[in-house]
Amino acid sequence: MGFFDRLRQGLSRTTQQLLGKFEELVQKADTPDQRSRPIEVETVEALEELLLSADVGVAATERIVGAVRGRARRGESLRDLVKSEIRAVFAGTTPPPSDDHRPRVTLIVGVNGTGKTTTVGKLANLLKASGQRPLVCAADTFRAAAVEQLQIWATRAGVDIVRAKDGSDPAAVVFDAIQTGRSRGCDPILVDTAGRLHNRVNLMHELDKIRRVAARAAEGAPHEVLLVLDATVGQNGLQQAKEFTAVAGVTGVVLTKLDGTAKGGVAVAIAHDLKLPICYVGVGEGIDDLIPFSPDEYVDALFQERW
Ligand code: GDP
Repeated sequence: MGFFDRLRQGLSRTTQQLLGKFEELVQKADTPDQRSRPIEVETVEALEELLLSADVGVAATERIVGAVRGRARRGESLRDLVKSEIRAVFAGTTPPPSDDHRPRVTLIVGVNGTGKTTTVGKLANLLKASGQRPLVCAADTFRAAAVEQLQIWATRAGVDIVRAKDGSDPAAVVFDAIQTGRSRGCDPILVDTAGRLHNRVNLMHELDKIRRVAARAAEGAPHEVLLVLDATVGQNGLQQAKEFTAVAGVTGVVLTKLDGTAKGGVAVAIAHDLKLPICYVGVGEGIDDLIPFSPDEYVDALFQERW
């Protein structure tokens, strides 16, 4: 299966909820005599409700509905209006940083349970399949189980791993991983970080230290900081995201567990509210279940003509 079909399958819970009702609105709004008029108030209200129920979020929904309401139609379909406004939301995010440092150092951050370690394993596998030679670094020295789990993923993906010894300093492990990666010709370096320490302040302090030490080991590092967010948590994850973004210098989001929720519209809320690009989405627990995110494919999968 290609990326688009897997994304479509991953979004199936969301589309099961959304598509039937959206189709009814489209049928009503897109008759030949309706097409040249402003869209009816009830249709706009029903659309608003539908977007909110898919967790698109209040602000992004307002924007989409506003565009649909305000535009004097010249034959455009309701479907196209909605799709193009959502594409515009994604186009308004900050682009990911350039890819010109070698080795590229990517930190993976986020709260425990969101799927961080799994994502590092899947990402290593994906990048290896595309011809790169990633090295993973287990810098969650607080949880021995996380290190063991990453070891299993690294073996499965067939990539090198640098792992912390119990109780060692995570920043020192990251330094070691960058040196090792360089000497072995590995690139990129994917760093799995802790998602919880004794308290939040400690966690943020540790992430800050990792950043500083990484910068000493490689110019401009970390070059990318991916925040892992769990789609099943939906809107509630956004507050978490803001805290990490402020401290950890997040450059993009990985949205996991899209397959486990009917609230797959949360990708739009993230792009709208955080202005961060969504780089990858997780659509299952297997090693192949990570997909590079494409806004066009996402919008097509969500509002497709035929299911
Ligand atoms: P961490 O604590 O953030 O490192 O989270 P883990 O990587 O240990 O993942 C927590 C749970 O989420 C595990 O049971 C994973 O299999 C599961 N998980 C991670 N990503 C996905 C996904 O995209 N889809 C589904 N269905 N489960 C996922």
